[in-house]
Amino acid sequence: MVDIISSSQAIELEEKFGAHNYHPLPVVLTKGEGVFLWDVEGKRYYDFLSAYSAVNQGHCHPRIIQSLITQARELTLTSRAFYNDKLGAAEKYVCDTFGYQKALFMNSGAEANETAIKLARKWGYTKKGIPANQAVIVAVKKNFHGRTTTIISASTDPSSQNGFGPFMPGFEIVEYDNVEALEKALANPHVCGLWIEPIQGEAGVYIPAEGYLKAAEKLCRKHNVLLMMDEIQTGIARTGKMLAVDYEDVRPDLLILGKALSGGVLPISLVLADDEVMLVIKPGEHGSTFGGNPLAAAVVIEALQVVKDEKLAEAAFNLGIIFRERVNNLINNTSLIKLVRGKGLLNAIVVNDIPDSETAWTLCAQFAQHGLLAKPTHGNIIRFAPPLVITEEQLHECCDIIDSVVLHFKNP
Ligand code: PLP
Repeated sequence: MVDIISSSQAIELEEKFGAHNYHPLPVVLTKGEGVFLWDVEGKRYYDFLSAYSAVNQGHCHPRIIQSLITQARELTLTSRAFYNDKLGAAEKYVCDTFGYQKALFMNSGAEANETAIKLARKWGYTKKGIPANQAVIVAVKKNFHGRTTTIISASTDPSSQNGFGPFMPGFEIVEYDNVEALEKALANPHVCGLWIEPIQGEAGVYIPAEGYLKAAEKLCRKHNVLLMMDEIQTGIARTGKMLAVDYEDVRPDLLILGKALSGGVLPISLVLADDEVMLVIKPGEHGSTFGGNPLAAAVVIEALQVVKDEKLAEAAFNLGIIFRERVNNLINNTSLIKLVRGKGLLNAIVVNDIPDSETAWTLCAQFAQHGLLAKPTHGNIIRFAPPLVITEEQLHECCDIIDSVVLHFKNP
């Protein structure tokens, strides 16, 4: 084992022995607590990414870590070849929390989306009467649902797709936030599902017009299509409600969750649905060795209970208003930032620059020098998504950092 003593040493090792499938900021983190991260040189940062919203409850939340340790001492994995004494309670807990009849646990977000695709297709054949192998899932432009070969088949991002074909058939892509396009696409009797994010986080925090999600739900009902909602990034209080669809009182047929289900301590994802949909999959037709393991089952209950007990949705709602107010004040005093948009504590700023310039990246490097970690999502868009446990005072301190960096910014 190599003992890491400096950032440069750690970066060198990753560069040399790791695949180059990410382009991280040159910061090497070694410790996290609440809203803070520390690098190996001992410098403290505010985390404004929260591991892409997986750490809504804050880093190493003591209650979640305790549930992990307690369960890890008893039993971690049995596979689903046998029952374990924790999974049923976790399934009941998530069904009660989100109002569904059945839950299916997986690990990564991509796997949960794959699960939803399989459920929608199987439902299409067995319940809607779509002819064999002709089911269509309608997805939207600029979506992000993960990295598997099936999921990227529905992507419109060249960096997700280029070089990775051939692609899975059975997807139709329509404009996001366009009800007319949905009306047309869903009228096709072979459509089994409409697959969307309530806010497109990865694409740059794009929020559809008010009423779009409700219209999508109504069209799904009208055309007997399943509404497949990917709340992997937006769910679990991030946008100021437990789910982003709660803003429009929408109830998806397939609710897809991941990330903050574990507060960042291990990969847990799941799909929720009612019996009519979930029970189309029979024993042996789908699964995962680690999906629904007792460790995950114990952690998911504690991680969600923390969100409820600490009222993180309300906190995100209120702090988000303050954050956007502060950035809008900044925008009045600079030409570098064009706009801020978001809901709750899922926000993005658009840098007033051509999309493929380095300015957003350079800004993030300077935020890091001043103790705040954020990253561009796409080109000139920077996402700001701190842990929801951030206090109002801390948020103001972070806004002061952002103000100061932006107002003194010089492109090197
Ligand atoms: N869906 C959405 C909306 C996401 O934001 C992400 C990850 O960022 C995923 C799916 C994929 O999740 P995972 O990286 O856990 O596979």
